[in-house]
Amino acid sequence: MRDVIIIGKGPAALSAALYLKRANLDVLVIGKDYGSLEKASSIDNYFGVPGGISGMELLEKGYEQARELDIEIRTEEVTGIRQEDNFIVQTTVGETEAIAVLIATGKSRAGLKVTGFEELSGKGISFCAVCDGFFYRGKSLAVIGNGDYAAAEIADLHHYTQDITLFTNGAPLITQRLNPDQKINHEKILEIKGTDRVEAIITEGGTYPVDGIFVAMGTASAVDFASKIGALVGGGNIIVDPAFMTTVEGVFSAGDCTGGFLQVAKAVSDGAVASKGIIKFVKEKKK
Ligand SMILES: Cc1cc2nc3c(=O)[nH]c(=O)nc-3n(C[C@H](O)[C@H](O)[C@H](O)COP(=O)(O)OP(=O)(O)OC[C@H]3O[C@@H](n4cnc5c(N)ncnc54)[C@H](O)[C@@H]3O)c2cc1C
Repeated sequence: MRDVIIIGKGPAALSAALYLKRANLDVLVIGKDYGSLEKASSIDNYFGVPGGISGMELLEKGYEQARELDIEIRTEEVTGIRQEDNFIVQTTVGETEAIAVLIATGKSRAGLKVTGFEELSGKGISFCAVCDGFFYRGKSLAVIGNGDYAAAEIADLHHYTQDITLFTNGAPLITQRLNPDQKINHEKILEIKGTDRVEAIITEGGTYPVDGIFVAMGTASAVDFASKIGALVGGGNIIVDPAFMTTVEGVFSAGDCTGGFLQVAKAVSDGAVASKGIIKFVKEKKK
C-alpha cells in the first residue's frame, strides 16, 4: 500500500509530489498524458522563466525534478476510485491502494452538444455507474463513449442490468476491454429525447428507446472521480476546503479541477498547499 496516490501528472500533481516525497511519504503519481500544457506553445507569465517556455519544456523540467527525487510516475489511465478501509485507485492496468488520494486531473470534460443533453442531465443522464447504476436494475441502458473508461462503466453496470448498448457517437472504438457480445451502435447522436426524463436516443440511423444514459466519453474526469467517491462538486469543479481536502476525508484535489484561476502558477500553489494537508492526514492515520 502507498501513502498517497496522485492522479494526474501536470503541474498541480508534480508540485504536490515534490513536497510529499521530501516529507518522506511513499508517493505514486499516475497520469495518462501531458494534460493542458501539451497545447501551450509558450508560457510567458510564469515566475522565473524569462523569455517564456513551451508547455512541454516546462513539464519536462518538472519530470526531471521528480526523477531526481526518485518519485515513481506511471503512465496509465485511471478509471475510478473506491473507498474501502483505504482508497483503491483503479487503472486500465490494475488497482493500487493508498491512505490518501490527490485528484489533479485538470479541467473537466465537455458534455455532448446535442438537443436535450443539458436539459436531461440528472434526469436519466448520469456520469457515474457506481453512484447511479442501482436505480436502473433490469432497465435498458445506453453508455456513451468509445474507450476503456466506457468499458469500465459498462462492467460496473452489468451488476444491475444486461441490457446495455454502447453508443460511440460516430467515434472509432478504442478499447479492447468489452465482452465479445457487447451491443454497439456507431451512429452519430442527434438528440436525447424526453420530457421529464430520458426516453430515447435519436441518431442519424433511428430512435432507440432507453431508460437511462451513462456518459463515459474520453477518459474519466475529475468530476467523474469525485462523483464516484461521493465528493461534492459545483459548477464543474471539485469543492475543496482551504487545505484542498474534498468533502471526503482523505481525498484531496488541486489545480484546474478545483476551478478559479486556470493558470500554472495557481496549479503549482494548489499542489504545494494540498501536500501540507495530505502529510498531516497520512501521519495521523499511521499513528
Ligand atoms: C492552449 C493553452 C495555453 C495555456 N497557456 C497558459 C499560459 O500561458 N500560462 C499559464 O499559466 N497557463 C496556461 N494554460 C493553462 C495551464 O496549462 C493549466 O492551468 C495547468 O496546466 C493546470 O495544471 P493541472 O495540473 O491542474 O492540470 P493539467 O496540466 O491539465 O494536468 C492534468 C493531468 O491529469 C491527467 N489526467 C486527466 N485525466 C486522467 C485520467 N483519467 N487518468 C490519469 N490521468 C489523467 C492528465 O494526463 C494530466 O497529466 C494554458 C492552457 C492551454 C490549454
